[in-house]
Amino acid sequence: MITLKNIVKAYDGKKDSGRAVDGLNLEIQRGEFVALLGPSGCGKTTTLMMLAGLLKPTSGEIYFGERMVNHVEPKDRNIGMVFQSYALYPHLTVRDNIAFPLRERKMRKPEAYERAREISRIVQIDHLLDRKPSQLSGGQQQRVAMARALAKNPEILLLDEPMSNLDARLKLDVRDEIRKIQRDLGVTTIIVTHDQEEALAISDRVAILNDGRIQQYAPPDELFSHPVNLFVASFLGNPPMNLIAGEIRPAEDGDGDGDGDGDGQTIATNGFRYRLPDARKLAAEHLGKPVKLGIRPHDLTLTDASDARAIPMQVDLVEHLGSGKLVKVVDPDKKLDGMVRLLTDNEADVRSGDTVYMRIRDDKFHVFDMTANGVNL
Ligand code: ATP
Repeated sequence: MITLKNIVKAYDGKKDSGRAVDGLNLEIQRGEFVALLGPSGCGKTTTLMMLAGLLKPTSGEIYFGERMVNHVEPKDRNIGMVFQSYALYPHLTVRDNIAFPLRERKMRKPEAYERAREISRIVQIDHLLDRKPSQLSGGQQQRVAMARALAKNPEILLLDEPMSNLDARLKLDVRDEIRKIQRDLGVTTIIVTHDQEEALAISDRVAILNDGRIQQYAPPDELFSHPVNLFVASFLGNPPMNLIAGEIRPAEDGDGDGDGDGDGQTIATNGFRYRLPDARKLAAEHLGKPVKLGIRPHDLTLTDASDARAIPMQVDLVEHLGSGKLVKVVDPDKKLDGMVRLLTDNEADVRSGDTVYMRIRDDKFHVFDMTANGVNL
């Protein structure tokens, strides 16, 4: 449905490479809901503006279906757009705001009003048609902006941070509604957001951007279970993934695995060793490499001293999250640098100063190669 081929956008005034978008490739299927997610300045809005036709790419091609649209005006692209600010006309009623793009296309007033009523029913604002934007709540204004964008029956809906002006609770409701409306109408939708929870909750696929490049483009669960690199792994997740810097070494006798054959592998720092399970051994070429061991807080569990794979730690802080506890632990012998976060249920009886034994849930860890931009081995 939508194809971006090697898109580059350079701005004259921009520092670094001058490129806000730097060789972006993306394919979006008909009816799909896709999020562009990334830190501030990664090129999300620039990409959306190029899809809308409000900015021209410096090079590369944009296709809607078979049609190359690089030189097609915004009004001829058959898109609907919702901006962060909603951009409603304050002097017009809700009815006239929704009908505006239709009237612009020379649709007759009775028909435009009929369509406005129809679409306002779908987004559940048909009781507000006679009001002005100033007489609406933020959530209602958001729906008017959605209705206006959808009135023309666009093939593509572009959403630029459409929920950032709503409070946390309302955001959840609006998010569900946007998804439902999108499904019912089957309109291909692209949302720009820096809110990862929102992107992961609402989208079929998420494109993670950094420095104008796509780092990974995948369904939400895959981004979590198989992040391709350290950037994606550490950008996603709250509380964030634990990262322990070390080196891959062959296991020696006395590595703690008890078999004494020395054929295993460990990730080791000064004195701290984590033996990789045999099933997760890495290719010999990786031996000696500096790596980061990545473990999500919910993949660390508490165990007891008799567990052969237990790592003794000391509790520094316990935070109550409501749904469970976030336990911050440190290595009392200081062999392991920094603090490690783990999540437990509310029943776990842990307090600051306690000695605890943690272990990594079976195979739930990642190893990032620090000699190759943090690629996930
Ligand atoms: P945010 O989440 O903060 O809105 P973003 O991911 O949407 O960020 P863009 O607005 O696409 O990022 O900007 C990408 C990069 O291009 C940034 O470094 C920004 O400073 C730069 N940039 C954007 N517009 C211009 C411009 N008109 N001239 C020069 N540089 C620009």
